[in-house]
Amino acid sequence: MRILRSTLLEEYAGVIHGFVHDPGGPDLLKIASDHGLEDILTVDQVHGNSVFFAEHRAVEEFAKADSVVTCKKGVGIGVITADCVPILLYFPNFGCICAVHAGWRGTSLHAVRSCLEAVWKKYSLRPQDAVASIGPSIGKCCYEVRDDVASQFVSSSDVSTHWLCEKGDGKFFLDLVELNRIELFDAGVSEIETMNVCTYCQGFPSYRRDGYNADRMISFIGISP
Ligand SMILES: [Zn+2]
Repeated sequence: MRILRSTLLEEYAGVIHGFVHDPGGPDLLKIASDHGLEDILTVDQVHGNSVFFAEHRAVEEFAKADSVVTCKKGVGIGVITADCVPILLYFPNFGCICAVHAGWRGTSLHAVRSCLEAVWKKYSLRPQDAVASIGPSIGKCCYEVRDDVASQFVSSSDVSTHWLCEKGDGKFFLDLVELNRIELFDAGVSEIETMNVCTYCQGFPSYRRDGYNADRMISFIGISP
């Protein structure tokens, strides 16, 4: 099992987290108990931008969403990925945590902004009260897209597109991490860390590299009970 930790989240006592590659598929209960958590709650991810406030497993398993939020201690929340961008958020003075899944569709639908807006609506917590870590995902080094995908992100009002690099033949390299970092920054998130690990070329689960049978990784966060 390979586990990466965020230097930023490790600064906070009581926060438990990890970006985990457990070959053959993550055993959520085992990873949870190894970290002193009751469970790791996930949702049925659908490449959208809806947000689920998690309380109990029985419900979560059937919830269609791409962000999970909780203020409950002792239980982890997480997102499953293989190239898509996992983002973990923590509101230090309020004990609120979020896990967001953003592939190109979720990124184009502003999944992380929707999560921050939902937290503001429900708990009146501002993005300025949050810190964020962006985990391993397919990097700009390897994420080649065609113009149908690239055009989702470029509009005539864009002055800078450093996150999109033209390769020729109607192909581009797209930087999903940078797009999500900009979204967090623009929302006002106080500190943002990017892990800068590419799933495709650094041996983590990659759908683009291995297809449907690719392993999946779990990126989780919890607050110690
Ligand atoms: Zn790469």
